[in-house]
Amino acid sequence: MSWTPHWEAVGDEVVRHLQALLRIDTTNPPGNETAAAEYLARVLRSEGFEPLVLESAPGRGNLVARLKGTGERAPLLLMCHTDVVPAEPEHWSYPPFGGEIHDGFVWGRGAVDMKNSVAVELMLMLLFKRRQEAGAPPLKRDLIFMAAADEERGGHLGAGWLVDHHPDLIRAEYAINEGGGYGFQLGQKVYYTCQTAEKGYARFRLTARGEPGHASVPREDNAVVRLAETVARIGCTPLPTHFTDTVCRYLTTIAETQDEPVRSAILRMLHPEHFMAAVEQLPIPATWRRQLMAITRNTATPTVLHAGSKVNVIPSTATARVDGRVLPGFDREMFYAELEPLLCEGVELEFTDWGPPLEAPVESPLFDTIREVMAEHEPEATLVPSMLTGATDAKHIVRLGTRVYGFTPLKWEGDESLLSLAHAHDERVSVNSLLFSTRVLYDVVERFAGR
Ligand SMILES: [Zn+2]
Repeated sequence: MSWTPHWEAVGDEVVRHLQALLRIDTTNPPGNETAAAEYLARVLRSEGFEPLVLESAPGRGNLVARLKGTGERAPLLLMCHTDVVPAEPEHWSYPPFGGEIHDGFVWGRGAVDMKNSVAVELMLMLLFKRRQEAGAPPLKRDLIFMAAADEERGGHLGAGWLVDHHPDLIRAEYAINEGGGYGFQLGQKVYYTCQTAEKGYARFRLTARGEPGHASVPREDNAVVRLAETVARIGCTPLPTHFTDTVCRYLTTIAETQDEPVRSAILRMLHPEHFMAAVEQLPIPATWRRQLMAITRNTATPTVLHAGSKVNVIPSTATARVDGRVLPGFDREMFYAELEPLLCEGVELEFTDWGPPLEAPVESPLFDTIREVMAEHEPEATLVPSMLTGATDAKHIVRLGTRVYGFTPLKWEGDESLLSLAHAHDERVSVNSLLFSTRVLYDVVERFAGR
């Protein structure tokens, strides 16, 4: 038998859960995610689940719950995080921890990153449980819900900790995560992203050395000058262009749906030697151009400088910290090989933090299902694979061999400014968009886990 949710009631229910979650202050640091995990656990328990709240440290609770399927296929993980970044209430139109509704939007820190998904994924767990209890055939895959702590500070007390300490609770073949599902427009065409790749980070320290001395006699081996020159080269020189599967498919899919001359300009970008000229020709804003630069190369952004303490003394060392980001397929040695030519004499590079890049197949049963479902909900739009320049909890989960896709669909309502609300003032999500997410993901999960 088939069973269909009563969508109007579901819309009210998911909004209520989001409001409740927004009212729990899980600003990280310090986090206090246990309060959110307990909320989710209470709701799940009331519908017959046996959720676990696992604390990695006092107050740092992670929630895991499972809906058993027939076991014919491997589990699907619905993953999200409950922590949020700090808010500055004085800059908000409505209180960031109020969960208030105004003008058709739910307002609050975490409304798009990512308590919206926490509410939606909770709702999916409830719906599939109710569906099973109504006598519909069970899913072929277990559905696992993980609401982790600490994502905004690296996830080491959240998803990373779960992978290390409770891998069997969250082991899955596929996962749905944040990082994609956003709409955008080019010309007359609307696109939605499904994130298949994520850059890794390879942060490093530059140390310049030279002879110290009195500043009244200039020296050619001044550590400050060596450092400054290296920092300027690193900051101003684009590294070589590389195309991963995701970016190739992203560009070709967009090109196929565009008219001339945009189509040709995009296709020309796929030739590394023409990339720069072609990207300049596209009728797109500077922010998007920068994004295209960042997804087609490794990058290194200088952010912190330390040198000298007295104006009349040449110091013997000067250091800089640089935020490096690497494409899927690159390791530290390959990245170093691209940076080495930019280092001045007397300057050493030492890697300090490393998070691996990752890429899931751009053709897979889950990606195909998402495309199929989106074609039904948004027939005019095209789904494209995308690469995230930042990192999410996916970097931890892939250690279990899981294929992670970023897809928490937000309805494209023609307003680009709503996409950049994560971590910003006045973060909010439209009530329409929240129900859209729930309906799309319900269909994705039903189809993907049900057959
Ligand atoms: Zn997030």
